[in-house]
Amino acid sequence: MGLFDSIKKFKKELDKVESTVYSGKQSLIELYELNKQLEAEIALRTKELDTANKQMLTLQHIWDMMNSSKPLSSVLNAIVSSLQGELGYLYSCIAKKITDKDENYLQMLACSGKMFCDIFKNDFNCEPCDMKFRADDIKELFEAIEKNEIYQSNDIETLIKSAVTDTETKNIATILSKSGAQSYILIPLRNNHVHFGSLIVFSSREDATENELKFLKLFSQQIELAITIANLFQAVKEQAITDGMTGLYNRRYFEEFMQKEVIRAKRQNQKFTIIGIDLDHLKKINDIYGHNYGDIAIKTISEVLKNSCRSIDIAARMGGEEFNVLLQGVDSQGGVIFAERIRKAVECIQLDKIGHITASIGVGTFMEHSEEPDELMELVDHAMYESKRSGRNRVTVAKPTSETSWQEVAIETFADILAKHQIPLDKKTYTLLNKKLKEMNINNEMVYQVSDTLVSSYNPEHEKGGTKKKVLLATLLAKRFDLDKESIDKLKIAVLLYDIGNTMLPKEILGKAEPLNEDEINSIKRHPVIAAREILEPISRVNDIIPIIEKHHENWDGSGYPGNYSHENIPIESQIILIVDSYFALMENRPYRSAMSKEEALNIILSESDNKWNSSLANEFVSVINNEDFND
Ligand code: GH3
Ligand code: MG
Repeated sequence: MGLFDSIKKFKKELDKVESTVYSGKQSLIELYELNKQLEAEIALRTKELDTANKQMLTLQHIWDMMNSSKPLSSVLNAIVSSLQGELGYLYSCIAKKITDKDENYLQMLACSGKMFCDIFKNDFNCEPCDMKFRADDIKELFEAIEKNEIYQSNDIETLIKSAVTDTETKNIATILSKSGAQSYILIPLRNNHVHFGSLIVFSSREDATENELKFLKLFSQQIELAITIANLFQAVKEQAITDGMTGLYNRRYFEEFMQKEVIRAKRQNQKFTIIGIDLDHLKKINDIYGHNYGDIAIKTISEVLKNSCRSIDIAARMGGEEFNVLLQGVDSQGGVIFAERIRKAVECIQLDKIGHITASIGVGTFMEHSEEPDELMELVDHAMYESKRSGRNRVTVAKPTSETSWQEVAIETFADILAKHQIPLDKKTYTLLNKKLKEMNINNEMVYQVSDTLVSSYNPEHEKGGTKKKVLLATLLAKRFDLDKESIDKLKIAVLLYDIGNTMLPKEILGKAEPLNEDEINSIKRHPVIAAREILEPISRVNDIIPIIEKHHENWDGSGYPGNYSHENIPIESQIILIVDSYFALMENRPYRSAMSKEEALNIILSESDNKWNSSLANEFVSVINNEDFND
């Protein structure tokens, strides 16, 4: 091969190499281009993913809000705030279309509280939440709301102008440039197919993308769901605290409110007053005109209460025909004025068929009559019963416990036992007791009659007037042991109540003629003491007599029950009750023995000196009996 050929061949080889290099370069360029495209695609997808992620988080946030049972206003505020920041909206709000007599406008329900708020506050010295966006200036927007359609606009200026006065419009350009907002989107919201308001978002972008609108639509559906759920929570909450028939608060709410009010009243050293109201003769109304008319009477009182209360007063139906009102910051004088107003308002109403109805009212004031909420409620209750007893249709002010006579305490306690504790009484006794409690004037005679009626229900041998003798005897003995008036009053009440637990004993055991078996003896011994505590514990005003009653079966030498206490560990009041009770029991017939004479009974009393009771007590007892004639 000549040189030329060799050069040609070399050139050919070179061309080949060159062409290979060129095509390699081409594919490299292509690869590079492809890579760039891929990178851009990845960036776009990442951005989309990021947005989707944020949208998901926002929706999740609403979901959490929906399940948090928060009030609607905080749900709405949280929703609009979650739109800001996360999705790049400058400002978002929910506004409601209001139709007033002569104008239509948008009123803010919730706003995200940034941007516009600051600008409005600084430049106009007002809160956007107080602003009204007038329909006349933004007709298209209102048409979209009417049609329930999404509305987009770049004309933020007109929107703001619709809410401010002419003199303020010159500042709008400043607001807009400060805000950076370029457009806004409005999405109407519905609740139960009725217009609820509109979500409005302000964006720094001029146009919204398809995806953005899709998301906002989805988002507003979530808001609609959140509104429904928040309303449901609200309805359930209201049902739980109100009385269905009258719409007043129920007992539970009243009691919870009062607990909080006690704390507030103590902290601020401010009184509050409780008014207790009970409809008179509802039973008669029911019996004569039927239950529906009874209901009307109850609703009538409720309406009077609603119309007479300030927004801070709490009026509740405590049950049946009993109502309470708590008057914050009101003393007893103010309470009486309120109560009289209620009484007169009720009395003046003329009802179809029934005619006039009346109510009996009690008034008690925290830090005036009692500093114990339970005791205050009891005092109000008793003041109300006093109104009943003294003729109904009247107002009675509670008496502080210290001024209450022992007779009143006793009667109020009997009334409480009957009303609250459902002791198993036969209907006749129950009716008789209720009649006496409601209709007699409180005095010694009434106390003894009520007590005799109650004791006779479990002790057929109990003689009429028996209680009176026991109280007198116990009082005389107490005086011999120098007890002060307060202790003697306590003792008198304890004498009335020491056997109250017997009301809970089965009648078969009490009246059994044959000797009792061991279980029955135990039952007779222990059960009444336990029952007495159970019955009396909820009645705060007699709490201090429970220890006296609990120890009235303890013997001086420690052989008694239930605690085997002895000597000075037994209160003198309990010893007095034991000796008085034993004496009267000895002189009563029993299924297993007949009644003893006074002398026989006294002999037994003396023979038990230093066993059942202290010998000095036994001696004083005999001396009292011999000086006074108790058996007449
Ligand atoms: P007093 O003047 O002593 O209060 O007499 P009263 O008849 O109103 O009181 P009492 O406690 O003897 O009877 C109350 C009656 O109220 C008995 C009960 O059946 C009736 N009652 C309770 N709740 C309702 C109710 O929601 N509707 C109606 N119609 N009656 C009710
Ligand atoms: Mg009544």
